[in-house]
Amino acid sequence: MTDKIYDVIIIGGGPAGLSSAIYACRANLSTLIIEKAAFGGNIFQTSEIANYPGGISGETGAEFSARLESHADSFGVEKIQSEVTTMDLFGDVKEIVCGGNSYKGRAVIVATGCVPTQLGVKGENEYIGLGVSYCAICDGPFFSNLDVFVVGGGDSAVEEAMFLAKFARKVTIIHRRSEFRAAKSIVEHAAKVPNIEFKTGTVVRELSGDGLLQKITLEEVETGKETTIEAAAGENFGFFVFVGMKPQTELFTGIIEMDERQYIITDENMHTNISGVFAAGDVRRKRLRQVVTATADGAIAAIEAEVYIQDNL
Ligand code: NAP
Repeated sequence: MTDKIYDVIIIGGGPAGLSSAIYACRANLSTLIIEKAAFGGNIFQTSEIANYPGGISGETGAEFSARLESHADSFGVEKIQSEVTTMDLFGDVKEIVCGGNSYKGRAVIVATGCVPTQLGVKGENEYIGLGVSYCAICDGPFFSNLDVFVVGGGDSAVEEAMFLAKFARKVTIIHRRSEFRAAKSIVEHAAKVPNIEFKTGTVVRELSGDGLLQKITLEEVETGKETTIEAAAGENFGFFVFVGMKPQTELFTGIIEMDERQYIITDENMHTNISGVFAAGDVRRKRLRQVVTATADGAIAAIEAEVYIQDNL
């Protein structure tokens, strides 16, 4: 237990958390950021950040994350790599426990993000960034004029397939059932796109290739028949998984107000239902989950934390 009381404690070190740190430190607030894994968040896995305004052409997600982290470092943020286990968010001084230590702060910003659900098939992890992706807006343009596969039968899969069809030669939606979970209107719309095909009653068994994803093994659910599709010579496949996303909010269940899908509910200034507790980035209930929206949320949350601290001195 340390006696120090930070102005701001940020939980989560992705683009939202690191941007909060930059803005909080710039406002002369003593700031601690706690991240359980690598700083950078989901963006760490993206092959290139092509749509961040003013971004560096060709820069990988890992390089971008490192730059963001060192930007926060340069303003003097204190960092801890540890998993938060418990907390007390009520009262003027909040307490966060991780790694067996307790940290106190006047304001807390939750920026824990969300994780895409993985398919869990052989080769999936190996080909992340080499064909396998969980973000069409981030990685779609890398598969211009190539064959792309989308897995899932929900709104995300079908909507993202329509986005990918603008770049790809052909998009095949692979879904395990014949009925779609996605809204009928969305499926009907996709069915009219000339370069979208549906492969229903089919599951993916294995992904492989020689450095890049070039082979996809499928199985017909009803017959168990396996087929392996191979990319044309010199080409590779795009393979996008949209089988659901999960916000990382288990820790806050019953404490911070969430919607029915466990995303944190905030107002437009990132305030949660608890005084002095803010949420920023993908963990929030919102429509567009991108680096640009995460960094904007982070900046707003930090400035709102500053106002909150001043008002409560
Ligand atoms: P979702 O609705 O939960 O759909 C996930 C899909 O992935 C389902 O079709 C499911 O198949 C399939 N799936 C799950 N695990 C799988 C596995 N291991 N192997 C193969 N397939 C698997 O997820 P979502 O599409 O991300 O949407 C989440 C929520 O956001 C939904 O409420 C959706 O309506 C909403 N959303 C709305 C919009 C919009 O309104 N424009 C856009 C995007 C998302 P089964 O159907 O067989 O279970």
